[in-house]
Amino acid sequence: MRVSMSIYTNAQKILEASAKIAGLNPAILEILKKPKRIIQVSFPVKMDDGSARVFKGYRVQHNNTLGPHKGGLRYHEATDLDEVKSLALWMTIKCAAVGIPLGGGKGGITVNPKELSESEKEKLTRAFVRAIADCIGPDKDIPAPDMGTNAQMMGWFADEYSKIVGKPSPAVITGKPVEVGGSLGRDTATAQGGFYILKEMVTWQRGCQVETLPKIVVQGFGNAGWHIARLCHEAGYKIIAVSDSRGGILNENGLNPNEVLEHKKITGSVVGFAGAGNMSNEDLLELECDVLIPSALENVITDLNAQNIKAKIILELANGPTRPEADKILFEKGIKIVPDVLANAGGVVVSYFEWLQNKADKKWSAEQVQEKLKPIMLNSFRAILEIQNTKQTDMRTAAYVVALKRLEETMSFPHPKEQ
Ligand code: NAD
Repeated sequence: MRVSMSIYTNAQKILEASAKIAGLNPAILEILKKPKRIIQVSFPVKMDDGSARVFKGYRVQHNNTLGPHKGGLRYHEATDLDEVKSLALWMTIKCAAVGIPLGGGKGGITVNPKELSESEKEKLTRAFVRAIADCIGPDKDIPAPDMGTNAQMMGWFADEYSKIVGKPSPAVITGKPVEVGGSLGRDTATAQGGFYILKEMVTWQRGCQVETLPKIVVQGFGNAGWHIARLCHEAGYKIIAVSDSRGGILNENGLNPNEVLEHKKITGSVVGFAGAGNMSNEDLLELECDVLIPSALENVITDLNAQNIKAKIILELANGPTRPEADKILFEKGIKIVPDVLANAGGVVVSYFEWLQNKADKKWSAEQVQEKLKPIMLNSFRAILEIQNTKQTDMRTAAYVVALKRLEETMSFPHPKEQ
């Protein structure tokens, strides 16, 4: 369920609270509170029935202190400027938190992609590229997949951009099919990065008493949700419930994500899977389990349901699933939240690898990608835990503190105390 209060106001609140703990230069906080540039476009697409439909698209470039803007493209019927601005801000924090030389950006189109044919999706993507081509580029702003978009669309995007600039430019976007310059391991990267951290928490406990083969609940069964369910299942963890936009399914004895995926491919949803009971997305969040993994939309954990959440760990693969009031309740309940800016950062880290490979005209093996991703995720996690301990705070605030310190070092802006 979506909550009407501005997500961007919430995003700013977290930024402000963390800036206070970090002792951030107020001038830098003011800069980070606003996106550097907002691009808003309306563009027509000729639909299969011959009619023209005008779509609204956004690209928000939040900050490029550490490197070119980087962030996904979302196709969703509820996507608006407020959402895209929040997602762009989180990208700045995320890239800085894991120490990669990229800035924050995000884009989206207000559309339900499920209502479009393949050819309409292609025309929509290509028309959007033409509308924003001047503002993006391999050294300026590099999009990637997010909700409602996939590798195929990234391929169309790169192709259209290359035609506009008159030369092959695969590095303009990441998350492409491997045959046209995509990186091995990009499709699994978001879940894989989160899984490295989850495994470390389960193995070393890190202040959370969970079973060594924990019970897992996953909300969302797309790129992030399906891959995390698969990885957890392969590690012997028990997936007791999963869901998608149509609802959830539960089997206390464990679900095999591969079989659930087969059912979804045939029916279009996880709902109705044989051997499991159906349930609502709301009830799914409140199930008795060790680990809850929101992997769909933002704002699903609120002050209305936080008190009923029974998980011991929340691994935020979705961006912004927890509202600030809920954060406070969960912290008081002793629930460990691995925040989105860390938990799902594997996606942008491997996007960064893809960009490096494209620029150097090289191809890394899947093993090379994993070998490089794992230490980035685990070292970032440990550095954040250290700050969490010294500042006696939650992991989200600690991740922001790490990110803000990195940004501050690079943004060399005079601190009022030094003027
Ligand atoms: P996706 O489109 O592949 O999958 C989204 C899933 O969420 C689908 O199964 C959909 O049915 C489900 N869903 C939609 N509305 C829902 C609702 N109201 N309740 C329950 N489920 C619902 O998208 P994705 O790429 O997996 O992205 C999911 C989340 O992960 C987003 O928040 C995204 O920003 C974040 N994320 C994705 C990546 C990536 O690399 N794909 C990287 C970082 C963060």
